[in-house]
Amino acid sequence: MNLRTQLGRTWHGGRWLVALFLLIGVLAPTACVLWFLNVAVNNDRDASRRKLEEAYRGQLKLLRGRVDSWWDKRAADLERESRAGSGPVVFERLVTQGLADSVITPEYPSLSTGATADPAATRPDWLAARLLESQSPSAAADSWAAIAKGEPDVSIASRALQARVRSLVRAGDRAAAIHTIEENFTTGRFLHGRDPEGRFIALDEQLLAIRLMDASRTALATRHLHDLVADYSGLPIPSTQRLFLMDELGAASFPTYAAERLAAQFLESGRTRPGGSALEPTGIPDLWKLTPASTPLIALFHTATAIAGMRSLSAGLNIALNVTPPGHAPPAADEWMPAGSALPGWQISISMPGQEFDAMAKRRVASYVWIGLLAIAVVAISALAAGQLLRRQWRIATLKTDLVAAVSHELKTPVASVRVLVDTLLAEEHPEAGKTRDYLELIAHENRRLSRLIENFLTFSRLERNRQKFEFTEVDPVRVVEAAMMARSQSDAGLSVLIAPDLPRIRADEDALVTVLRNLLDNAWKYTPDEKRIAVRAYRENARVVFAVEDNGIGIAASEQKRIFRRFYQVDRRLTRDAGGCGLGLSIVEFIVRAHGGAVRVRSEPGRGSTFFVAVPAAT
Ligand code: ADP
Repeated sequence: MNLRTQLGRTWHGGRWLVALFLLIGVLAPTACVLWFLNVAVNNDRDASRRKLEEAYRGQLKLLRGRVDSWWDKRAADLERESRAGSGPVVFERLVTQGLADSVITPEYPSLSTGATADPAATRPDWLAARLLESQSPSAAADSWAAIAKGEPDVSIASRALQARVRSLVRAGDRAAAIHTIEENFTTGRFLHGRDPEGRFIALDEQLLAIRLMDASRTALATRHLHDLVADYSGLPIPSTQRLFLMDELGAASFPTYAAERLAAQFLESGRTRPGGSALEPTGIPDLWKLTPASTPLIALFHTATAIAGMRSLSAGLNIALNVTPPGHAPPAADEWMPAGSALPGWQISISMPGQEFDAMAKRRVASYVWIGLLAIAVVAISALAAGQLLRRQWRIATLKTDLVAAVSHELKTPVASVRVLVDTLLAEEHPEAGKTRDYLELIAHENRRLSRLIENFLTFSRLERNRQKFEFTEVDPVRVVEAAMMARSQSDAGLSVLIAPDLPRIRADEDALVTVLRNLLDNAWKYTPDEKRIAVRAYRENARVVFAVEDNGIGIAASEQKRIFRRFYQVDRRLTRDAGGCGLGLSIVEFIVRAHGGAVRVRSEPGRGSTFFVAVPAAT
C-alpha cells in the first residue's frame, strides 16, 4: 500500500469520525432540547389548567353562594309582596313584578267557581217564563223583564235579564237584546250578579253584545270588557271565567294571560300541595314550585325562567354560569358542583373558556418553540464552527505527517546514491580521472534533484502557511520562458521553444512564474521516457498569455487529470520513484497560477503525451 492511499484512508476515516461526532453533538442536544420543550410545554399547560380550575372552582363557590341568596331573596320578595291585598291582586302583583311565572294564592286562581244551589229553579213565574220561551220568545222576553223588575236579589234579577236577552235573540230582535245588555250590564247594580256557578253574568252578556253588534261598534264595548277582565282589584272574577274571557278577547293583550294559563294547568294537574322553601318539581315537565316559608303561596317557575334568573348572577365575573336541572348532565368541559340548598338536585357549572385557554397555551408553546429553535441553532452553529476548526486542525496535522513522510521518503534515495558514489571514490586511493568525473557528475545530478525537492518543499510550506509573498510587476513573458529554460537542469535534446511575436506584458511575480514553468518542464522530462520531444510555447489568447508545455510522454488518464493537482497526489508512485518528486509540483503550479488570477488545465492522452496550459491575464 503506498503512502498516498494510507494517508488518504486515515484522513477519510477521520473525517467521517469527526462528522459522526459533530452529528451526535448536534443531534443529542437537539433531541434533549425538544424533549425538555415537550415536557415543559405539557407541564406548563397542566399547571395553567390546574390554576385555572382552582380559580374557577373559587368562582363557582362564590356563584353558589349568590344562587342561594338569590333564591332566599326571591322567597322573601314573594312573601313580602303577598302580604297586602286580595288573592287576585296579589296574583297580579307577583306576576307583573316578574317574581314568578305564575302564583297560586289560597283564594286565586282556583278551579272552583263557588257554585251554589239555584234558588230560582222552583219558582212558578220562572218556570212559566222558561216554558213560554219555546212557544213565544218575545212574550217570554216580557215575562223575564217583569221578573227582573220586581226581584231584589241582584243575581236572580241578572239571570232574569240574561234570559230576556236570550229570548230577544230567539225572537230575532238583536237591537233590543243589545240595548238590554248595554242598559243593564255595563255599569251599575247588575254588574255584580252571578250565576249559580259563580260567574259574573254581566261579563258574559257584554261578550254576547259584542258578538251581536255590528263590527263598527264593537271596539268600545270590547275595550270596556277588556278593562273589567284585566282589573284584578275590581270584580272578583273567578279565574276560570277570566281565562275564558281572555281567550275570547285575545290572549296576547293581557299581560297576565300566560300566568293564568300556567296556574290553570298546574291546578288541573291535581298535584297542588304547597312545596317547601326549596325549588321542587311540580310533576309537570319543566315546571317548578316554590313555597316561601310562612306563606301558603305557591310560586311557579319554568325551568328556563329559573335558569335565566340565575345566569344573570355571573354578570361582572367574566364567565358564563350554566345551571343544569336534575336529570341532566352538565356540559362536559365545565367545572361543576351541586347547586345550593335552594335547588336540590340541580347543578351549577361554569365553562372553562376553552378558546382563550388554547390561545394562551398556543402563545406559550410558540415562545417555547422559538427558544428551542434558538438553542438548536446555537448548538448547530457552534458545532459547525467546531467542525471547521477541527477540520483545519486535522488538515494541518495530516499535512505535517504527509510532509514528514514525503521528505524522509524522497530524500532517502538521492542521499543514499551520493553516499555510495562518494564511498566508492574514497575507497580507491588513485581513482581514474574519467571515472571520478562521471561520479562527480552523478553526484551533481543527485544534488540538483535534492535541491529541486527541497525547493519545492520550502515553496509548498510557504504557500501552505500563507507566507509566500508575491511581488507583482509588469513582466515580459519572453523573460519568464528564458529564465525557466536557464534554470532547468536537463539537456536541450528534443526541446523546442516557440514564442509568438508581440506578446503583451503580464502582471506577475517573475520568480513564481519561472517556478511554474520549471515544474511543468521537470514533469514533461520526468514522464517522457525515450526520444523526448518537449515543446514550450507562449502565445496570446484574447486578453491572456498562455504558456504551454507539451511532451510525448506517458500521458494521464482522464479520470486522473483533476486529481494530479492535489497535494501529494501521484498517479503511479513506482514510475516517479526513479524520476524523483513527491506529488507537490502541480499543486504548487496551481496555487501560483491562481494567485495570478489565471488558470491551469491539462490535455492528455495516455501513451501519447500531455500538454499543460497556464493562462495568465495580460497587464492592462
Ligand atoms: P511529482 O512530484 O510526483 O511529479 P506533480 O504534482 O508534479 O508530482 O505531479 C503529480 C502527478 O501527475 C505525477 O506523479 C504524475 O503521475 C502526473 N504527471 C504530472 N505531469 C505529468 C506529465 N507531463 N505526464 C504524465 N504524468 C504527469
